[in-house]
This record gives sequence, C-alpha cells and structure tokens, in this order.
Amino acid sequence: MSSRHKTVALKTAKEMNQPRPVIVKNLLTCSQSHEFDDAKEEWTVQSLIDESSEGFSNHCHLCHTPNLKYNFILENALNGTTIQVGSTCILRFGVGLGKMDVDSGAIFLNNMIEEKELINFLQTYSSRVMVLHPEGRTLKKYYESLKRYFDLRGITAPTQEQLGLVIFGIKWEEQSTFNQLQMKRIFYNPGSIEVSRTKRTRPTHNPKEGTTWGHKRRRNVETTLARSASYSPEGRVVDNR
Ligand SMILES: [Zn+2]
Repeated sequence: MSSRHKTVALKTAKEMNQPRPVIVKNLLTCSQSHEFDDAKEEWTVQSLIDESSEGFSNHCHLCHTPNLKYNFILENALNGTTIQVGSTCILRFGVGLGKMDVDSGAIFLNNMIEEKELINFLQTYSSRVMVLHPEGRTLKKYYESLKRYFDLRGITAPTQEQLGLVIFGIKWEEQSTFNQLQMKRIFYNPGSIEVSRTKRTRPTHNPKEGTTWGHKRRRNVETTLARSASYSPEGRVVDNR
C-alpha cells in the first residue's frame, strides 16, 4: 500500500465523525433511523455506475460534490431506497461499508472501480479480438484484462456464461458460434490463436505474419493493464469523488 493511500485513509478517519449538517439531513431523509450513526448501518454499497449508465448523477446525493466520475449505488436494507454517492462520503463517514475499516473500504471501492474499468475495456474492444487473426498486442492486453477481472472476483475458471456476460453483456447468448468459442480460447488457450502482425512493432523485432501470440510472448515487455498508470489503485478514490 502506498504512502499516498495511507495519507488519504488517515485523513478520512479523522473526519469520520464530523459530517456537515446537510449530509446528516440528506442521509436521515432517506433512512428509517433518526440518528446518523444508526442510519449509516442501514446502507450497503451495491454497485457502481459511470456516466454512460442511465440515471447517472453528476453530484453526490449526500454532500452534493459535483463532477463525479462514478456513482456508488447504496441501498437501504430497511426501505429499499437507493442513493448515489461518491467514494469520499463512503470512506469519510463509513456509510455502506458495514464492518469494514477505512483501509479495507478503500480497497473494496478501488476494486469496484477497477472491475468497472476492466468491463468497459473488455466490451469496447471485444470486436477487435473476435476475429480470426486479432492483432497481437490487442489480444495480449485483452487476455490480461480478462484474467485480471476474474482474479479480482476470485474466479479461476469462469464458465461460458461468466465469460459471455463480461465480454458481451446480457445478450451474450445471441453471439455467433465463432465468438462463443473465441471467448473461451482467449481465456483458456490464447496461445492457440493466430495473430496478425503488430503494426507498431519495431522492424528488428517484427514477428512473421501468422506467428502465434503464444510463441512471441516475452516477460515484462508490457505492464499489465491493471498495473499501468491509469489503473493505479491509489489515487482513484482521491480523484474520483
Ligand atoms: Zn459525497
């Protein structure tokens, strides 16, 4: 865990018990309890949406912070109400995290964000790898992203349905037979897929047309998507209120 992450966690912990009156009012309005600390316990983080989702709110329902990149959807166990909030309110006031401490909560939220970003990538790029000879670098990144997604969810051997839902969404069963086979090949046997030549590869290392990706794989050539700068787990919670 980085020092930056710890700094954020400590800062939020100190402020944990000092919600502004407007935040207290907003939470109590949609909770059953009339005490802030009790009301907090009624809520659970359910899911995460971004601006491409219907019903996205650009401000936090609790503190009204604008320009949210993500909405965490919190559901009230007693009355079924949902509210959409930024990560800051969740961590600062411990709303929706149950018994989790601030550090575990930050990791939990960051994992949700990473899963969301991975799904966005996997669905956006699916048409690029659902071809007979996908481009090598794209296939590699796609495979790594798919692995990372299921790693985060603790799944080592995803089923056809699990792969389909992640790659194509709820209409995965309408995909062609080729696509359904290809998604399994990508996860379980990417080396068996013949790739096309990478256009951006330097001339000295040009793999021959038709070289399988499995043969030209090298260690540490590229960072994985999960480790690249834009996917740094630290900072997301800070930046994406
Ligand atoms: Zn907020």
